[in-house]
Amino acid sequence: MSQALTHQQLTEIAKEFGTPTYVYHAEKIKEQYGKLTSGFSEIDAKFFFACKALTNINILKYIHSLGCGIDCSSINEVKLAIHAGIPAEKILYTSNGISFEEIEEAASHGVHINIDSLSNLEKFGKKFGSSYPVGVRLRPNILAGGNLKISTGHEKSKFGIPIEQLNALLSIVSENNIRIKALHIHTGSDIKDADIFVHGIKVLSELVPHFPDLEVIDLGGGFKVPYEISDEETDIPWIAGKLKKFLDSNVFNGRKFQLWFEPGKYMVSECGYLVTQVNVIKDNGAQTFAGVNSGLNHLIRPMFYDAYHHVVNISNQETEEKVYTITGYICETDNLANDRLLRKVREGDLLVFHNAGAYGFEMASNYNSRYRPAEVIVKDGKAQLIRKRENFEDLLSNLVEVL
Ligand SMILES: *Cc1c(COP(=O)(O)O)cnc(C)c1O
Repeated sequence: MSQALTHQQLTEIAKEFGTPTYVYHAEKIKEQYGKLTSGFSEIDAKFFFACKALTNINILKYIHSLGCGIDCSSINEVKLAIHAGIPAEKILYTSNGISFEEIEEAASHGVHINIDSLSNLEKFGKKFGSSYPVGVRLRPNILAGGNLKISTGHEKSKFGIPIEQLNALLSIVSENNIRIKALHIHTGSDIKDADIFVHGIKVLSELVPHFPDLEVIDLGGGFKVPYEISDEETDIPWIAGKLKKFLDSNVFNGRKFQLWFEPGKYMVSECGYLVTQVNVIKDNGAQTFAGVNSGLNHLIRPMFYDAYHHVVNISNQETEEKVYTITGYICETDNLANDRLLRKVREGDLLVFHNAGAYGFEMASNYNSRYRPAEVIVKDGKAQLIRKRENFEDLLSNLVEVL
């Protein structure tokens, strides 16, 4: 059975820790990881959680305890993972547009690295030669992802080394004796068409003969989860079956590769709930607004990606329903959900946003000088605070008052 927190649990958490609060359900993360490992059980596959989706150190520790690795998108995420006690061989740094100094620092920790520009690859080769096998992030010219802002593999994308530049890449590799151990692509997020992953490995398979040291094919992240009731989740066994068939077809002439994946959203989206409270009900004649004590400063996805988040009124047990636009308290049109049929909403009711685990807290800001929310984890039925709500001192902490 799918893991979910009850309205009663969420209400108690709101009472104990206040609102707005992000709540993460550990067992749901375990369930998602279990679907990946069982779906891919016939393939030599490894998973690295793309931690930019949710970096709370307790989440990193929990995910590591499940056996999963961590994929990082900045040196600070690498340092967080190391701080969480995760060994270097379970940490992957997939870079984009970063300074060479960050790559050197990552190398000093001994983590796996995917390099995404010819310029940094050349610097890496000059410094490390063959001593530090490394991966390259390629741009495969595949358009995928739920929204152009989260599509990363297409031909106008900034991400990765364009595969048209293969010859230049190979010259740098041979001049500097670089050992390329992984070919990486990440085509986008929220990918609807599961065939994209099969297409991706086909594109990479044509390049494989150029890389004698290759051990890993890394197909990135982007597995989809349902946001709306009509949405579907990526069919993991289907993808695994297709990939197995491809690997078994002996395209690689007997060479064996491990497949790596970097799921972010798939691991943590559904485990998360943003619990908010209604400040005001306002009728403007055309629609009724339920204004909550949160906004784009806490959950930017509806405005940034036109994302849909399911919303539930957990405070009213009566069945009378009404249509609301749920909006924030920020001085922008930060509607979080439009025209939703909810149980009648009263001021003080708790409205819960679902699928708030991935890219929720992580993209939160202090806009309008508001505090970022608290974070709570529920594990074995027990709720624990894992990040305090900010306070006024936090807003002042880096200010330098010179006038
Ligand atoms: C963001 C990112 C991911 C994770 O994407 P999801 O859509 O959350 O699965 C994986 N790999 C890389 C390199 C990324 O930048």
